[in-house]
Amino acid sequence: MSHIAFQPKGQRVDVEADYVVVGSGAGGAAAASVLARAGYKVAIVEAGPWRAPQDYPSTTYGAMRDLFDNWGLQVALGKSISPVVQARCVGGTTVINSAICVRTPGDIFRQWAREWGVPEQGLSASVWRHQDDLEQELCAELVPPASRGRSTELALEAAEKLGFKEHHVMTRYVKGCQGSGQCLQGCRNLTKQSTNVNLVPEVRARGGVVLSCAPVDKVVMKRGEAVGVTGRFIHPGNRSKGAGFFVRARKGVFVAASATYTPVILMRSGIRHPKLGHFFRAHPGAGVFGVYDEPIDMNVGATQGWASIGFRDSPGIKLETLAIPPEMIASRLSGGGTALMSKLSEYRHLAMWVHSIRAETAGRVRNLGGKPFVTYSLDLPDMHRLRAGLYLTAQMHFAAGAKAIIPGIHGLPYKLGPDDLELIKHAPLEHRRYITIMTHLFGGAVMGGDPRTSVCDPTGKVRGTRNLFVSDAAAIPTVLGVNPQHTIMGLARHFAERQVA
Ligand SMILES: Cc1cc2nc3c(=O)[nH]c(=O)nc-3n(C[C@H](O)[C@H](O)[C@H](O)COP(=O)(O)OP(=O)(O)OC[C@H]3O[C@@H](n4cnc5c(N)ncnc54)[C@H](O)[C@@H]3O)c2cc1C
Ligand code: SF4
Repeated sequence: MSHIAFQPKGQRVDVEADYVVVGSGAGGAAAASVLARAGYKVAIVEAGPWRAPQDYPSTTYGAMRDLFDNWGLQVALGKSISPVVQARCVGGTTVINSAICVRTPGDIFRQWAREWGVPEQGLSASVWRHQDDLEQELCAELVPPASRGRSTELALEAAEKLGFKEHHVMTRYVKGCQGSGQCLQGCRNLTKQSTNVNLVPEVRARGGVVLSCAPVDKVVMKRGEAVGVTGRFIHPGNRSKGAGFFVRARKGVFVAASATYTPVILMRSGIRHPKLGHFFRAHPGAGVFGVYDEPIDMNVGATQGWASIGFRDSPGIKLETLAIPPEMIASRLSGGGTALMSKLSEYRHLAMWVHSIRAETAGRVRNLGGKPFVTYSLDLPDMHRLRAGLYLTAQMHFAAGAKAIIPGIHGLPYKLGPDDLELIKHAPLEHRRYITIMTHLFGGAVMGGDPRTSVCDPTGKVRGTRNLFVSDAAAIPTVLGVNPQHTIMGLARHFAERQVA
C-alpha cells in the first residue's frame, strides 16, 4: 500500500523503509524525491491529512480548518503577538502558499560562510543546479499577462513612476495560472505545483509510501543512530487518537517538519544541544491598502503578481502585491457591525501591497507540552525597516492614483490622504501598534561549522548522531530577504544527494 491514511485504535502499524522523511512540505518532499530517484524506498510521514485538490475548501474558514496548522492560531509572543502561519496537510505549506520562486541570492552563501562557517565551496553551485531542475519540474513561469489582475498592473505603473531600479512580474511554480486569487485556499485549478501534486506522488510511484494524519512523536535513537520514527495517527476531522505507528529506517531519517516543529521533534527525541530551538528567524510582513476610485477586484488575478527586491539591502525589505480574501480583509479593517460593513463595501476598490522584512531579530522555539512555543520580538532596527516598508508601499499607492490608503497603524487615522504620508514616516515604533504576520520562517536547528552554535553540520546532519538529518527551513541559519521555498528545496536536495551520491 503506498498511502496509509488514519488508522483507528488497534494494532500498531509497522512500516519499513530505507529512508524516513518527516513532513511532506517544501523541504521534506524535495529530499524525498532525491532519495526515491536514487532507488531507495522512502516513507514520508506527514502529520496532516491528504486533501485532493478538487476538495480544497473555497473559503478562508475552510482552509483554516482543513489545511492550516492548528486553525492558523500559532503565534509568536514578544512585545507584540504575531500570527505564525503554516499548513498541516500532505504538501505542507506549499499547498497554501503563493508559489513564488526566487533563487537563493549569491550573497546568502557568502553570509553563511562568513557568519556560520558553512563552506561556500560547491554549495552555491549545487543548490543552483537543483534550483534549475526544480524550475523545470515545478513549471516555474512568469505570471501570464491575462492573469495579472489590476493590482499588479498598478504596482508596475507605480514602480515605474517612482523610478524603482529593480521590480518585476513574479515567477511562480504555476503551470498556466488562471488568476483565481485563491492560492491561500489551495489551487483547485490544479495549476499551482504544490508538492502534493508532483513530488509526493512521484515518491509513491517509485515504490515509496506516505503515512498521512501521522504526526511523528519522536525519532527513535539507538546508541546515537536514528533507526525510525514513532507516533500515533490523529483523525483529520474530530482529532481523536488512532493507532500507534513505527516506521523503521534502514538507512536514515530526514526531519522536515518546519522551523517550528523540527526543533520540538528533535527535543522530544532526546537530542541535547545548547542551541536547539535558538536562532528562530522570520521575514515579518505587513501591508497597506490603497483605496482607488476604479474597481481593483483583487480577487481577480494571481494571488501575487508583482515584486521588487530593489530594497533588499537598504532598508532591508521586499515589496509585493497580495490579493487577500474578503474574510481576511474583514479581520484587518477595524470596527464591527454597520461600521465594518460600510468599510467592507469598499472591497472592490482596495488593493493590498505588502512588504516583508529581512529581519535581524532572532527568536526562540521551546517545547511546551510537546508543542512549539515561539518567542520573537522585533528589534529596533527591524522596527525601522517595518515602518520604512509601510511608508514605501503607501508612496506607491499614491503614485498609482489611490485616493487614500489604510495604513493599519494603531494611533494613526484609519485612512490617510497623500498629504498625510509624513504621519507614517514618524509613526511610533512600538511593535504592538502594527499588524504583522510571519509566513517565512527559518532556523531552530541551524547548520554551521561551529559545533557550539550549530545543531547540524553543513551537510544537515544533526551533531552527535548518525543518520539523522534536518532538511527544511529549520536548518537555515539566516533570513534570505527573498521568498524561501526555492532555497529550502534546493538545500534539502543538496543534503539528500550527499547521502546517496
Ligand atoms: C500563506 C503563505 C504564503 C507563502 N508564500 C510563499 C511563496 O509564494 N514563495 C515562497 O518561497 N515561500 C512562501 N511561503 C513560505 C514557504 O511556503 C515555506 O517557507 C516553506 O513551505 C517551508 O518549508 P518547510 O519544509 O520548512 O515546511 P512546510 O512546508 O511547512 O512543511 C512542514 C510539514 O511538516 C509537517 N509536520 C509538522 N509536524 C509534524 C510531525 N510531528 N510529524 C509529521 N509531520 C509534521 C507539516 O504538517 C507540514 O506538512 C509562504 C508561506 C505562507 C504561510
Ligand atoms: S491564483 Fe488561482 S489559479 Fe493561480 S495558482 Fe493561485 S489558486 Fe491557482
